[in-house]
Amino acid sequence: MFLFCRTDSRTLTFHSQSDLIASPARADRVRYGMLFEGMNLTTEYYSLAREISGLAQRDLQKNALLDEISKALVRFSRCESVDIHLMESGQRHRGSAKGESTLEMAGVPDSPPKANEEPAVYDEQPLENLCRFLLNEEILPSGPHFTAAGSFLTGAADEPVNLVLIDKDEQGENRKLSLIPVPDGPFKSVAATIFHLGEGDLGLLVLKSFRRDFFSNGAVELYESICQFLGVSIIHQRKQAALRERVKELTCLYGIARLVDQSDISLSGIFQSAVELLPPAWLYPEITSARIVMDGKAFFSDDFSQGCSQLRSDIVTEGRERGFVEVTYREERPVLDEGPFLREERHLLDAVAKELLLIAEKYRAAHEREQLQEQLRHADRLATIGQLSAGVAHELNEPLGGILGFAQLSQKNPGIPDQVREDLDKIVSASLHAREIVRKLMLFARQAPPEKTGMHLNLLVADGLYFIESRCQKSGIEMVRKLEDDLPEITADPGQIYQVLINLAVNAIQAMPQGGRLTIRTARQGAGIRLVVEDTGAGMSDEVLEKIFTPFFTTKDVGEGTGLGLSVVEGIVNSHGGSITVESSLGVGTKFGIYLPSKAPPLGSE
Ligand code: ADP
Repeated sequence: MFLFCRTDSRTLTFHSQSDLIASPARADRVRYGMLFEGMNLTTEYYSLAREISGLAQRDLQKNALLDEISKALVRFSRCESVDIHLMESGQRHRGSAKGESTLEMAGVPDSPPKANEEPAVYDEQPLENLCRFLLNEEILPSGPHFTAAGSFLTGAADEPVNLVLIDKDEQGENRKLSLIPVPDGPFKSVAATIFHLGEGDLGLLVLKSFRRDFFSNGAVELYESICQFLGVSIIHQRKQAALRERVKELTCLYGIARLVDQSDISLSGIFQSAVELLPPAWLYPEITSARIVMDGKAFFSDDFSQGCSQLRSDIVTEGRERGFVEVTYREERPVLDEGPFLREERHLLDAVAKELLLIAEKYRAAHEREQLQEQLRHADRLATIGQLSAGVAHELNEPLGGILGFAQLSQKNPGIPDQVREDLDKIVSASLHAREIVRKLMLFARQAPPEKTGMHLNLLVADGLYFIESRCQKSGIEMVRKLEDDLPEITADPGQIYQVLINLAVNAIQAMPQGGRLTIRTARQGAGIRLVVEDTGAGMSDEVLEKIFTPFFTTKDVGEGTGLGLSVVEGIVNSHGGSITVESSLGVGTKFGIYLPSKAPPLGSE
């Protein structure tokens, strides 16, 4: 089995496990120095490889993984300190471990000093600088401190180290760099090996020991081979982690898309479920909160609190901002692509914002479809009632005409007894009332098509109110007219508009049995005019208000109301291309507003 293979002349080449097994302990000692003395190199090497590979399979954050690998390397190498630095897409990661048995001996703190603490017992700045230069590939890897493969090695780290930089000065000479160690620094031996992670990314393994000449050339070559394995493991871990993130993201998107399939869920229900699906899709689900704001309504994930870093996508349609979706971390996390967030998380959030917009639009379309169907059903019902009413009106009209005619004829008879005359009067007035109902029925059923001509609303209102005024006086109602001057002429059927005015005014008077104020207003409105009939009467409850345009709906006593007045008004206004508004509150009064366009649509288009 292939272990590691180096081809330069200074390196012993192992090709197989059996080669290692065949190497006697003494030969190992010669080649690798005191480092591996007394250990079964083959077994330990395999066990290290297995451990690194196992760690790379686990779902660990990058820095935690590097810490764990460093611990394994401390155990394997028996040195006092291991650091692994990574430079990935411009981001630096670092993991480290210290040899436990020797910590006390050297007085080395096992974690970096925190702010306000005593200064560190030792200063690693020169070593840190070395790592930075190596990682940035600024040092020429040649000279006494470098192995053939370019690893840095010193067994006397307490003495100045002279290095040559790749960068050249004005004379074309390579610049020099001298690393002056801190006096009494704890580390005497340092080995540092660069490894490649693909896509231009680099890693650096640094081993440090308190002992002089701890790492032999052979040992460093062994670490160079371990570094190749380490690089592959880290690349593998990176791919696995990216895959896991993608799976999380896709699960989130799929979950949101599937919410729509649930038949009995409202739009708010969908948004609430969607916001709960967001945190698990992020890199640190345990500290992630999310919220969605859409059309002024807000939805929050469990335990929502506004954290220190936010990622937000606007929900925009036709250039109009309708809301946003936001993810927030409740604790600080290392910087990645966009603050502590990944590039893929930005794409996911944008996709979620688009999906939410699609869902909202889908719901709106469904709602509009339902409303349209309801309107169609309503229109259908009205048409049926209209046909029925037309039939009944027609059938009644003839006999009613006979009753009225003969009663009026009989009235003209001289010498009829008073009692009979009174009875005939009752027959005539009842017949007139019935004829009025039939006329309304005919109007409602649109038996009389509108005859539209140019007309002035103010003139019509003045005429109409003339007849109503006496009725108002009898009921103790004050009538107020506010007619705007110079209203434009409108194209309408004067008879039908008169009917509208009278129906509204009669309703208003009937709503004020104890007196009150009836206000009639006309005014310009956009490309048309507006007629307002307002009273200070009984007003209507919401339940009554909902039904007032339904044919035959009435709250009045038999003989007082037919329930057709407002249906007729609605039919006429619609056939003129206008619209009606009603505002009413119980005990305060009611206000009907009629809008009529100055040019009504042609006949048959309504
Ligand atoms: P009717 O007047 O024959 O009952 P309408 O269609 O004209 O039929 O009115 C339907 C119902 O609307 C009335 O019975 C009444 O309850 C209510 N209504 C209409 N106008 C008013 C108003 N100005 N104030 C209070 N209630 C009203």
